[in-house]
Amino acid sequence: MKLILLGAPFSGKGTLARKIQSDFNLVQISTGDLFRENIKNGTEVGNLAKTFIDKGQLVPDSVTISMLKARIANEDCKNGFILDGFPRTVQQAEALENLTKIDAVVLLDVPFDEIRRRALGRRTCSKCGEIYNTSSYDKTTCLKCGSPLFQRDDDNLETVNNRLEVYERQTAPLIDFYADRLFAVKGQDNPEDTYKPVKNFLEGKL
Ligand code: AMP
Repeated sequence: MKLILLGAPFSGKGTLARKIQSDFNLVQISTGDLFRENIKNGTEVGNLAKTFIDKGQLVPDSVTISMLKARIANEDCKNGFILDGFPRTVQQAEALENLTKIDAVVLLDVPFDEIRRRALGRRTCSKCGEIYNTSSYDKTTCLKCGSPLFQRDDDNLETVNNRLEVYERQTAPLIDFYADRLFAVKGQDNPEDTYKPVKNFLEGKL
């Protein structure tokens, strides 16, 4: 199965992707993670991406599309994947249509006020990528692997507001683009409550 997770930043795409990945044995591909990996390794793509990411802007389509294209050509994607954070523009969605057939799109619906509240409390595991929020977990190490948690450079109010504006303008039009394959769910505070209807929906697709 080839699946897209659509939703504003902080809507819980990463957490949901991890749950789907383990139950349905699909590879999770996050373009944000791919960019961060490139930044850590000091690659050309990474250096270019950082200038956009730090401002809360999208990395140009040409760069993002070729990075994604290379990633989904890998052997581990043969049986399907979950795209988390791609596509984010209609141009990316059109490019993806030409590369492969997407079976379903899950939209995580969360009000922007709620997103701002979540945004500043997000902490990410430096090793396994597990996501926490200081409102429910205020320790500094990961429960799963014990590695230190960190706050992403782009998780600050100014950047978050920019990212929401970018989402509204450039990514929200994808809701119409994928209307024929879309399953919308409310992104709840408790990830299990969000996951249940999604799991039922995906089981119906098998
Ligand atoms: P994320 O981890 O998905 O929130 O992505 C972090 C940042 O990476 C975004 O704010 C963008 O600057 C950049 N990014 C991630 N995915 C894309 C994409 N599909 N198109 C353009 N920029 C992206």
